[in-house]
Amino acid sequence: MKRRQALSTLGTLVLALGPAELAFGASIVAVRVWPASDYTRLTIESDKALQAAHFLTDGPQRLVVDIENLELSPALRELVGKVRPDDPFIAGVRVGQNQPRVVRLVIDLKQAVKPQQFALPPVAAYQHRLVFDLYPTQAADPLAAMILERDQAERAAGQAIQDALGEFIGQLERPLPGGPVVAQAPAASSPAPARPRQTTSPPEVSAAQRERINRLTIVAIDPGHGGEDPGAIGPSGLKEKDVVLQIALQLRDRINAHPSMRAMLTRDDDFFVPLYERVSKARRVQADLFVSIHADAFFTPEARGASVFALSQGGATSAAARWMANKENDADLVGGVNIAAKDTQVLRTLLDMSTAAQIKDSLKVGQEVLSRIGGVGRLHKRQVEQAGFAVLKAPDIPSILVETAFISNPQEESRLRDPDYQARLVEALYSGIRRYFARNPALSRQRST
Ligand SMILES: [Zn+2]
Repeated sequence: MKRRQALSTLGTLVLALGPAELAFGASIVAVRVWPASDYTRLTIESDKALQAAHFLTDGPQRLVVDIENLELSPALRELVGKVRPDDPFIAGVRVGQNQPRVVRLVIDLKQAVKPQQFALPPVAAYQHRLVFDLYPTQAADPLAAMILERDQAERAAGQAIQDALGEFIGQLERPLPGGPVVAQAPAASSPAPARPRQTTSPPEVSAAQRERINRLTIVAIDPGHGGEDPGAIGPSGLKEKDVVLQIALQLRDRINAHPSMRAMLTRDDDFFVPLYERVSKARRVQADLFVSIHADAFFTPEARGASVFALSQGGATSAAARWMANKENDADLVGGVNIAAKDTQVLRTLLDMSTAAQIKDSLKVGQEVLSRIGGVGRLHKRQVEQAGFAVLKAPDIPSILVETAFISNPQEESRLRDPDYQARLVEALYSGIRRYFARNPALSRQRST
């Protein structure tokens, strides 16, 4: 009976609207899941804007999303297989046609979340996007996370030494068989295990740990782009977001090997971090320096060489610098930011108080880094350039943006891929940073985070 009613209603609609309007269904172009310990993002891209509503249930914890005017399609079903077992928030997704024109997603959760739902208009290579960002109910404290990471690294190092010693002693005690001892197949030949993710909230920072941190020089390393925002893409397909993450991870290890320095990454995985959030993370650990790493494209494939940028209070130092800043500042459009979130506006206003002192220090560190990078490869410009980069706007932290190379140049793209070139680049960045701190020691100050 109900079904017959629905059919007759549908019939009326056909008469009222005509067949053209009835092609209501948006087509799903792609679905993506970007898991990270900060937050997991779920993106549904379609050729028309989607209407959706969501609600949470607990016991079991679920996020239920109803998308209107949509037919279940194979593209949407792909979502089910895109959830990774190590996703910190999502245990699984089920997709079904809830009502004739409503598709329901049931997202089984691993922990309580604060979901943010927003829509993004078409931009760059993307059509309409419906986005769900699942944040933990308690945001991770980057300072505590940094301490935890350091403690884990120290424990792992200690364990490795103990294991090696145990193995050595074991070999001494073991009577040798006829042939030489054959080592076990190296672990590297097996597929890399999923990186453990921190799903519980980090421990409280003790006074002693805080004191140790107070004496450290903290460098915030910011690998550009990530997640929905691939950055520039080289002629053979190398993505800026991937190569800058590789460089940033190596720079982090290089810095952490120094006993009185500590690195904090604004992202350590393939997910998008809004520009203001990158700055905010650096401020929360009261970083002494902020280094954003990029490898952008340029108008022409011939453009080559590294450049270093600092913030400008007035205009840009060149048309190219202005162009680059505008392009980088568009990252939020491509990466996708929920502009309705209140803290976004508050932070943006706060970050407009950039100071002349910050810029002065940024130029100093920029020049040190530039001169070291000049020893690795060609420089695009010998001077540190300046423009209004949003990501360099921490009013109290010297901040530079390093364009390591132009990924749009085929030769530079292949160099960026080369582990040896990456290592030399990391060494140049590191020694430039060290030289800056040697000449301008970080003031010992009370970190209050
Ligand atoms: Zn970039």
